[in-house]
Amino acid sequence: MSDFSVTLLGTGTPEPLDDRIGISTLVRAGGETLLFDCGRGTGLRLHQAEGSYKTATVMFLTHLHSDHVSGIPDLWLTGSIPQMRGREEPLRMFGPTGTENLAEHLQLAYSADVEARQPSRDMAGFGASPARLEAADISPGVVYDRNGVRVIAFPVEHLIIEPAFGFRVEYGGRSVVLSGDTTYCESMVDNSRGADLVIHEVAAVPEGVDSTSPLVNRVVSCHTSPEDAGSLYNRTAPALAVFSHIHYILGASDDDIIAGARRTYDGEMVVGRDLDTFEVERRSVRRV
Ligand SMILES: [Zn+2]
Ligand SMILES: [Zn+2]
Repeated sequence: MSDFSVTLLGTGTPEPLDDRIGISTLVRAGGETLLFDCGRGTGLRLHQAEGSYKTATVMFLTHLHSDHVSGIPDLWLTGSIPQMRGREEPLRMFGPTGTENLAEHLQLAYSADVEARQPSRDMAGFGASPARLEAADISPGVVYDRNGVRVIAFPVEHLIIEPAFGFRVEYGGRSVVLSGDTTYCESMVDNSRGADLVIHEVAAVPEGVDSTSPLVNRVVSCHTSPEDAGSLYNRTAPALAVFSHIHYILGASDDDIIAGARRTYDGEMVVGRDLDTFEVERRSVRRV
């Protein structure tokens, strides 16, 4: 396995699909294991991918829509139980303004559970720390720099909630970019230049279907169409482009996504699936 890899833990949206849980992406770089977003079911998929909850101690949130954070209580609390092969340290969260507030109130909401399980944590010698959430509101720029791994937050344009970030992860002369939720925007283009792997959200509508109804338009207008994602890939030329956080609107399919993106991009691209893993080398990314 490469020393820089990405696993799509969840590739879904708020829509409850059996095979696509909420959005979450795991990045392993050198000795660092970093989680990006924490949608519904993230703890379950993390356990499938890693065999324990132990490794996920650092989490980055793109924005505070519920489909990106609703998996936090399970990941945080199940991951603090010694018998579940959980963490031996606090869970650290970095995200936009409001992240500290979210962490503070989660700890208040779940205080009965945290206190009730404390005796088994004491017996395991963990102290109180694995049940602690340590949160920081971040601003654009380098938000993490450890063991040769840098995480850079940059603003994207999600329109219905602010701020919203994309993230660029750099390690060993290679880089991975995660779009978060965004419309087509120059900031995403600028920060994707030179990246080996770009993971982009998408909202697809079947060809010929009227997408002007207010409800559909509300989704489409704050996300990225396959054509626009293709334009971004075309301008930034990643070694591999991967779709995740996939909004299938009015029965759209993977074929609609690929057909749309092919109008503007002729390079390598993949419609991601839960638990897909990609190894990141210089100018070469391989699905394993
Ligand atoms: Zn969102
Ligand atoms: Zn979303």
